[in-house]
Amino acid sequence: MRLSYSAISTFNQCPQKYKWQYIERIKAPTTPDLFLGWLVHLVLEYALQNAPAMPPVNKLLELYNLRWNPSIFKDSAIEKEYHQAGAEMIKSFHNAYAPGLSTVLNVEKFFEIRWKNHLIVGKIDRIDRLPSGEIEIIDYKTNRKLPSESDFKFDFQLPLYQWAAQTLWSNIDKAKLTLYFLRHGKKITPENIKTLPVLQGYILETVEKINTSDFLANPSPLCAWCEYSNKCPEGQSVSHNSTDSRDNQPANSSSLSLGVGDWRTKNGFPKDSLFRDLN
Ligand code: SF4
Repeated sequence: MRLSYSAISTFNQCPQKYKWQYIERIKAPTTPDLFLGWLVHLVLEYALQNAPAMPPVNKLLELYNLRWNPSIFKDSAIEKEYHQAGAEMIKSFHNAYAPGLSTVLNVEKFFEIRWKNHLIVGKIDRIDRLPSGEIEIIDYKTNRKLPSESDFKFDFQLPLYQWAAQTLWSNIDKAKLTLYFLRHGKKITPENIKTLPVLQGYILETVEKINTSDFLANPSPLCAWCEYSNKCPEGQSVSHNSTDSRDNQPANSSSLSLGVGDWRTKNGFPKDSLFRDLN
């Protein structure tokens, strides 16, 4: 089976969403959070494509504004709030960039792990080499809340990246794993992440569940961020006020990814075309 971290976590969040997204491949309008996450990731990829050099901040904001899509937001006040948040993240990222502290090796690095009869694929936002020689894997997060150490009890994304690093560089035992919370300008390296056998057990268990699933809906507070909520009666029954749900965005990193990478892939934009049209 071909799997990604997003596919695995989507199934465990809601089998019906997994079926619509990964089996039936039903297109759904993106959500403001997915759109903002995608666009900020795109701008940061552009920012580091010629690292250690970085374009001036106005160039980054130019790309941000060029790819901004107002039609995603239901009113101009919400649009303004999201636009400002994204611009602040980009400015703060630009401000904090210090090339002397590490060397950027890759951005948006694709990986695939062949294991048993499965192909596990994914993309790592950024890979740096630290002055010590250690590899640092950086995952950008655009969430409002910072996670606590206990949130990582439920996280399988970082152990997957650890496994990916060992696949990409057979000579390394361990990489430094960093979550970069862009709204807060804060990098977090969790102390305890799940071991490889635990991750592999989780993947096998999920595959087994997928193979025998009825793909029923599993409504939860996360429906507030689901692209399919408009076509899903179960999701609509989970009452939420849009402002409150934005403020209550979950902090645990398993919920943070929420498929930004998949939205990017699903829409199939050639990268060159996204960077084109800049003055
Ligand atoms: S709205 Fe909720 S229940 Fe419906 S598909 Fe999405 S996550 Fe599942």
